[in-house]
Amino acid sequence: MENWGIVGYNWLVQQLQHAVAAGVVAQSLLITGPESIGKHTLALAIAEALLCEAPDPLQRPCGLCSACRRAAAGNHPDLGLVEPETEGRGVKIEQIRDMERFLSLTPNVGAHKITVITDLELMNLNAGNALLKTLEEPPAYAHLILLATDADTLLPTIVSRSQHLPLRPLDDAIIAQALVERWHAGEAEASRLARLSGGRMGWAVRALTDPAHLQEMEAALGQLFALLQMDLPARFELAQTLAQNSGGLSQLLEYWRLGWRDVLMLQQANPQELMFLEQRATLEALASRLDVASTTRMLHLLTEAQANLLRNANTRLLLETLFLDWPELY
Ligand SMILES: [Zn+2]
Repeated sequence: MENWGIVGYNWLVQQLQHAVAAGVVAQSLLITGPESIGKHTLALAIAEALLCEAPDPLQRPCGLCSACRRAAAGNHPDLGLVEPETEGRGVKIEQIRDMERFLSLTPNVGAHKITVITDLELMNLNAGNALLKTLEEPPAYAHLILLATDADTLLPTIVSRSQHLPLRPLDDAIIAQALVERWHAGEAEASRLARLSGGRMGWAVRALTDPAHLQEMEAALGQLFALLQMDLPARFELAQTLAQNSGGLSQLLEYWRLGWRDVLMLQQANPQELMFLEQRATLEALASRLDVASTTRMLHLLTEAQANLLRNANTRLLLETLFLDWPELY
């Protein structure tokens, strides 16, 4: 499979390919990057490469052997996935203990046993410390692939015991090309989705295949504008509603941040950088009614709110604090 079937990150994939062939893949890998950038896809490709039964190690994963197919279908007995049971919460300590038991038994089929753990940034300290114990002395056949948005919010000892593979946003052109060639999108749609994706391949593919994804983004921008016209009681009521469904909150804050970033681009006479071209008229109206200082402040507050959300802050309070400073334009 060319580049393991992964779009972009060629150099990283080549390195991993050689590590697999030489049998020197680190026992703990930490893949970081924003939501929907492709962390799961890369983790699964690494797992498949380790489990694949193709005779030529440089051809692994082949995508055809029984190990590859079972891994891709999520039923390989030597591959475990540990995800939070509740949306917006981290993996629990009991799940880490189950994972330890899974890794303590030798592989069923091949030479490796692999666990992928997601949303590490949401994990609490107890679970993190339990994980650290496994990282200190993993069985020789065990591999842990840890996924997180940002290494800075994790226990430093977890980061230092892992090989860090950061995934940075891809160029729009690479995403657009892949959407056309591999997902058969039209040229115009591909370039629009690439622009909106913020360099995240997973987001672009999801937006292409599931219209709800784009509707969610449009609704978030609608809310950004609506908030400006709301008085404080109405804003607090919205904060309460949003806090009840905290699962989508991280994506919502990111859409708001990108909306405010567009306002700043217009204020700085940088319209070619606009992400939400379809909302340009409304964004321009906003840009002309506010000054750069208030826009910069909104960006700062949103980044802060995003960081607090990762620290498991009280979501309602977090939104209320944010809405107190949201400009009022009646
Ligand atoms: Zn294979």
